[in-house]
Amino acid sequence: MNVLVINAGSSSLKYQLMNVETQETLAIGICEKVGSEDSFHKYGLDGAEQLDETPLKDHDDAMALVIEALVSGPTKALDSLAEIDAVGHRVVQGGQYYPISTLIDDEAISKISELSVLAPLHNPPALMGINACKNHMPHVPMVAVFDTSFFQTLEPSAYMYPLPYELFEKHGIRKYGMHGTSHRYVSERGADFLGIPGEKARIITLHLGNGCSASAVKEGKAIDTSMGLTPLDGLMMGTRCGAIDPAIVPFMMECENLNTDEVNNLMNKKSGLLGISGVSNDLRSVQEAAEAGNERALLAIDMYAKAVKKYVGIYLAALGGADGIVFTAGIGENSAMMRAKILEGLEGLGIVIDAEKNAVRGKERFISTDDSPIKVMVIPTNEEYMIARDTFEIVSAL
Ligand code: AMP
Repeated sequence: MNVLVINAGSSSLKYQLMNVETQETLAIGICEKVGSEDSFHKYGLDGAEQLDETPLKDHDDAMALVIEALVSGPTKALDSLAEIDAVGHRVVQGGQYYPISTLIDDEAISKISELSVLAPLHNPPALMGINACKNHMPHVPMVAVFDTSFFQTLEPSAYMYPLPYELFEKHGIRKYGMHGTSHRYVSERGADFLGIPGEKARIITLHLGNGCSASAVKEGKAIDTSMGLTPLDGLMMGTRCGAIDPAIVPFMMECENLNTDEVNNLMNKKSGLLGISGVSNDLRSVQEAAEAGNERALLAIDMYAKAVKKYVGIYLAALGGADGIVFTAGIGENSAMMRAKILEGLEGLGIVIDAEKNAVRGKERFISTDDSPIKVMVIPTNEEYMIARDTFEIVSAL
């Protein structure tokens, strides 16, 4: 089955065409700056990338371009659109409605729209992607795969905030968690890699990219995660502050004379590695600056590592120990320095890193010593595959 995986952002449309049975990627690309004059389409498999600079006024225009590149020209992967069997959409917020992925029908569209209050930056663009596909491929079944679904197994004691209960009842204020598709994938792969059946494994998953989150997975089910009502909570990130004393928010608004949008922007776009280092949100640049003696860059790296280390401790307690810890996403997969810093000094808890294995670059691998009681793994995430697999399962059952 060929599944087109779509990840639509406010000004972007990312896609991957996969054959689910062979796990082969047939086509890949992204339309960026959609809605502006200087939009472009970057596409093509490794070594054969193409770039088209062309104005795309909306996601519908972008989808037309994507379809053209799938069925014609140098990146042609299909003879006709009829070879696309299903479309899988990444949707950030599924609220309490969707503990698993769902077929997209009118009711799902209206629920995703209703949930835009909880994810104003993410659900509306996902709907634009869904509508664009509907316009161009009206008869192809579509599935929504939610970032929040994996965390619908959390107990109320893990997802409730100690605020007046009515706020949960009236506005749905609770922890939803994000990056769930990634945590689900790497926790499954982690259990496989450990040779432990998923329903017996206790795994801590660390998704460390520009956005960062940690989760505790027991017997295949998430029991806690660091992101909350929004993706701002938990770990320090590229530009997001993560968890801070909540009283700082009204304090900053008063002393810096900020309105709600401005304070939100400050915490989401100007904080984290960027805010502390003053250099960049990109760890590679922050690390270069730190190596050149920049004190604030050094501080940013130390703070980042400490925030993740803290969550390792919290989740060891929540799980009552762990069989494995998985690092994934840009920083988790690539930064040996950061992995070592996060786990240094945890030998007493049974986490022993092998410096040589940690330094090796590669695909799925162990980076702990053979006799480390808790095994540490690097597992590249593959959210697109999970979206394609869920889509395949739901559409096959129709
Ligand atoms: P992602 O959001 O998963 O694409 O991750 C982006 C983050 O990964 C950025 O902070 C990058 O600096 C970081 N990253 C990517 N490659 C490397 C690398 N080789 N070494 C250190 N950090 C990296």
